Amino acid sequence: MLSRRTFLRTSTLSTLAVPLLLRAEATPPAGTPLVVATWPNRGATEAGWQRLQSGGTALDAVEAGARVPEADPNETSVGHGGLPDRDGHVTLDACIMDWKGNAGAVTFLEGIMHPISVARRVMEKTPHVMLSGAGALQFAVSEGFVKKIQLTSKARKAWEAWKKTAKYQPKINVENHDTIGILSLDQQGHVSGACSTSGLAYKMHGRVGDSPIIGAGMFVDDEVGAACATGLGEFVMKTLGSFLVVELMRQGRSPQQACEEAIGRIVKRYPNYPEFQVGYLATNKQGDVGAYAIQPGFSYTLTRDGKTTIVPSDSHLKK
Ligand code: ASP
Repeated sequence: MLSRRTFLRTSTLSTLAVPLLLRAEATPPAGTPLVVATWPNRGATEAGWQRLQSGGTALDAVEAGARVPEADPNETSVGHGGLPDRDGHVTLDACIMDWKGNAGAVTFLEGIMHPISVARRVMEKTPHVMLSGAGALQFAVSEGFVKKIQLTSKARKAWEAWKKTAKYQPKINVENHDTIGILSLDQQGHVSGACSTSGLAYKMHGRVGDSPIIGAGMFVDDEVGAACATGLGEFVMKTLGSFLVVELMRQGRSPQQACEEAIGRIVKRYPNYPEFQVGYLATNKQGDVGAYAIQPGFSYTLTRDGKTTIVPSDSHLKK
């Protein structure tokens, strides 16, 4: 990220059309490469790190990382093992964004193991940003993705148990969020991000959350850094959380300060905030990482220099 002072200096001087030296100065210094993901997601960040080590870009790293929980049948909030909506359908949302500002997303996609890779194809092979439902599935199949039944027996059992007591009411459950948001800074100093989820468990059929929405569930700006969200998507969407975090970093906040301020917006505007969880995770171009949540219990996984750590996040509400 450009420091505020450097930014002011470069923008002022650029307007005077002072040439080449400035261009060099305007390129932000590269941070140490990293892969960071919401929640304990060691398999994901390490897969992303491997991609960086084998010459992959930040975009390759976040896609490789998100594919790990997507393929895990025991992961009940992303991909293959995802809990269904209240009618028993597993509907998947994902988005991806690179350092050039390209973006792709899928929403309400059924029967495909790797929505993040379909989102990348949307970005790379169509003139659109987002495909949804039957159209997203049609595109995925045309690209060679295989459609499979997705409700695992574990998820089916959980849904059957939910139906006995829930009276068909979608419920806000602060414990039921595990969406993967994953960000990477590569050797070239570029950032990219991805986000993938099966969304809120037992949601209404047709509900789409924040995770596939560029600027809500995830956002990248290579001048600044990247951010992603987890938790109750309705509140992330209503405050355009990831975009807000990136813009706050642009104004000079550290990733930590930016995440705290974005959570503060929700807390200030929505008095029922103690009933739900939202967590943000961000990195800037120097590789500083920050995270903050409403409820205690949020954490993130960071792989840097080949070492992985799971870091508990601070939260607005304390234990
Ligand atoms: N953000 C996701 C959604 O609202 C849910 C989650 O993070 O678990 O769909």
